[in-house]
Amino acid sequence: MSSPYLALPQGVSAEQFGRAIAEFRTILGEEHVITDAAVLAPYTKIMLPVADAQHAPSAAILPQDVEQIQRIVAVCNRYRVPVWPISTGRNLGYGSAAPATPGQVVLDLRRMNRILEVDPELCTALVEPGVTYQQLYDYIQERNLPLWLSCPAPSAIAGPLGNTVDRGVGYTPYGEHFLFSCGMEVVLADGQVLRTGMGSIPNSNTWQVFKWGYGPSLDGIFTQSNYGIVTKLGMWLMPAPPAYKPFVVRYPQRTDIERIVETIRPLRIAMIIPNAVVIAGVLWEAGVFVRRSDYYQGAGQIDEAAVARIMKEHDLGYWNVYAALYGTPEQIEVNWKIVEGAFKASGGEILTENEVGHSPVFRYRADLMRGNMNLQEFGLYNWRGGGGSLWFAPVSQSRGSETLKQMEMAQRILKKHGLDYVGEFIVGWRDMHHIIDVLFDRTDPVQMQSAYACFDELLAEFTAAGYGNYRTNTAFMDKVANTYGPVKRDVDRRLKRALDPNGIIAPGKSGIHI
Ligand code: ADP
Repeated sequence: MSSPYLALPQGVSAEQFGRAIAEFRTILGEEHVITDAAVLAPYTKIMLPVADAQHAPSAAILPQDVEQIQRIVAVCNRYRVPVWPISTGRNLGYGSAAPATPGQVVLDLRRMNRILEVDPELCTALVEPGVTYQQLYDYIQERNLPLWLSCPAPSAIAGPLGNTVDRGVGYTPYGEHFLFSCGMEVVLADGQVLRTGMGSIPNSNTWQVFKWGYGPSLDGIFTQSNYGIVTKLGMWLMPAPPAYKPFVVRYPQRTDIERIVETIRPLRIAMIIPNAVVIAGVLWEAGVFVRRSDYYQGAGQIDEAAVARIMKEHDLGYWNVYAALYGTPEQIEVNWKIVEGAFKASGGEILTENEVGHSPVFRYRADLMRGNMNLQEFGLYNWRGGGGSLWFAPVSQSRGSETLKQMEMAQRILKKHGLDYVGEFIVGWRDMHHIIDVLFDRTDPVQMQSAYACFDELLAEFTAAGYGNYRTNTAFMDKVANTYGPVKRDVDRRLKRALDPNGIIAPGKSGIHI
């Protein structure tokens, strides 16, 4: 019982684990192998409605190069010790830095943080896992390169490699990050190093410009998976446009959402609006800078009267649409006429930087849509306080008729569990992501139970209605994998057995086990 470790990998004795740790120390040096529970604390912090112990790591190890990772996987195979790779480890609301199952060794790649190349002519970059968006942003600014990044909301502290391999998204025209990636380097479980696409051709200089290479295209199988450890990622960067025009369109009624999406879809498909359009619900907007307790002290879900007061006092729509135009001033002028006409016809109030540039809510969105660093979305966690967050993220067609019914279903289920609807719709090229942040107080055991039950019910009902989640947190990976059916699970597992027969890389990731 007196194991010196916070947790142990499944089926591995403390003695066997101790031997693996000793070998990791030989490879990495004492200071890069952490087993002390106090020092491991940053890797154990989760926002999920389950006990910390369910995701407690046994250790964290921090390699500095590919060769060390190859030696690490050899040790892992020998002792059957699994590693959970993270790049910057800020996967907040999806599991943070903690593993899917207890006892895995966190493989923290933050020391591998070189920006290997930025080509301002081809607008490409090649980065290592530990590179943060802030670091890449600074690199570009310091050299005055005419390039823009696309980053997720917690931009500054997260990184392009981790975000892309988990299929995260941003808010510029390059916001589908995996779509705009080009070439990976992957350490496989047997220690071989694979370069995808053109990266397998010796002396090739096309790794970051042509995605497909020859034969089966493999990049996708290394995203949201546990088939390899990604050590380099190529990405396409957006050339800085000569002009940029962010705007917001406000709508007062809950039911306006149907015609909002009908207005946006054709503009998105024709790429008149080239970036993913966010339709933020009032509580999402307010949550960034308002506390719930200032408006509502009653039991259960916040009521409509309090929501109306928030809208009025903070000058918010029930729905707040954010999008932008990019290009030359002439191009923007032509497209603005089309966009303005369409939104006016749908009854929205359109405001540009001239009118609302001073507002912190607008500034935050305007920054995101041009890939500037910003951390404001973390304000959402103050809405209730207590550090609980689960992202529920079903995908639908981008049609107005898909919106209200989803929202009503979510609101009803959240209400049953005493939780608020803090949501937004994001209109992609043809799809729409409905993002709901299930916020709860982790210090309150009742809310912990409610949040878990609520997420379960959201998943069951949305699945029954034909909606699948595009990404999920480490507590629900098996359940979400089940929603995609037995054939998909079987193929995932067969690939796992072929590439990682001892199951040493991230068991449980996306519900994939050997
Ligand atoms: P971010 O800090 O950008 O949110 P993370 O580093 O937390 O990203 O990575 C998100 C998830 O992606 C991790 O939990 C892990 O499952 C997976 N992941 C991250 N880096 C790698 C990698 N180098 N190889 C394989 N999977 C990775």
